[in-house]
Amino acid sequence: MDKIKIDNLRIFCNHGVYEEEKRNGQNFYVSAMLHIDTYPAGISDRLDKSVNYALLCREITDFMQKNRYNLIEAVANNLAAHILAYSELIRGIDLKISKPEAPIGLPFENISVEIHREWHTAYIAVGSNMGDSRAIITEAFDKLASNQAIRIIKKSSLIVTKPYGVVEQPDFLNGAVKLETYLEPEDLLDYLNLLEKEAGRTREIHWGPRTLDLDILLYDELIINSEKLTIPHIDMANRSFVLQPLCEIAPYAYNCRLMKTAAQMREELESRNER
Ligand code: ADP
Ligand code: MG
Repeated sequence: MDKIKIDNLRIFCNHGVYEEEKRNGQNFYVSAMLHIDTYPAGISDRLDKSVNYALLCREITDFMQKNRYNLIEAVANNLAAHILAYSELIRGIDLKISKPEAPIGLPFENISVEIHREWHTAYIAVGSNMGDSRAIITEAFDKLASNQAIRIIKKSSLIVTKPYGVVEQPDFLNGAVKLETYLEPEDLLDYLNLLEKEAGRTREIHWGPRTLDLDILLYDELIINSEKLTIPHIDMANRSFVLQPLCEIAPYAYNCRLMKTAAQMREELESRNER
């Protein structure tokens, strides 16, 4: 990806743990490497096809002066989120916050933190078979959409399906969403678990009835095998209630563990079921 770079934008503001830092303020320096596709601006020579860095520098200055944080880690984390939300052209950012006047009482040149954040693509499966499933799923989608760290790109329709595994339970309502997020996979899972909890989810029977189930199907082309998380979702190729909505929004979505697209997985599952 192409890059646009801002080096050491100087901003006088009041972040810091100590009272005198909050009261008196000091100079901070912001450096940002924006990951952007500059090709549309490059061939058209038009500013509206790129990020206006003069306006962005002003935006960064405003953000740094209107908000107060104790730690430069928090400054970096929140400023990166703000910049990623600033323009859809910005796909990622390397951000450095420097504080060369930090009150350390020893000779030093600079103190800084550097972080990287970028928009990732993830596919989430959603299911519910307790309570008002349609309302519960709609509310979960609304909450996802209102999280600054998440953009919903596409939603499938919701389909009624027969229970899988434990069959003595009500029918399910299932769907899938494509989203972009700068949350890392574990943080995304924690957030999905929180939404499940807020919907009144309890875990009694494995594969039993639930008000809300949110599973990560795919996250970029990442493979994860940790205790908490398996990505691509370990059982997605065997679940038609997952593949049907996924194929509706993204038949090309790629399972890099099985090296198959959603459409291929679905076709193979159907032919297995016919046998
Ligand atoms: P299931 O979704 O299989 O019916 P649960 O929703 O009860 O079961 O999930 C059980 C655990 O599965 C979760 O606590 C979570 O840590 C783990 N898990 C592993 N991989 C994933 C994934 N890709 N998406 C969601 N949960 C996952
Ligand atoms: Mg689950």
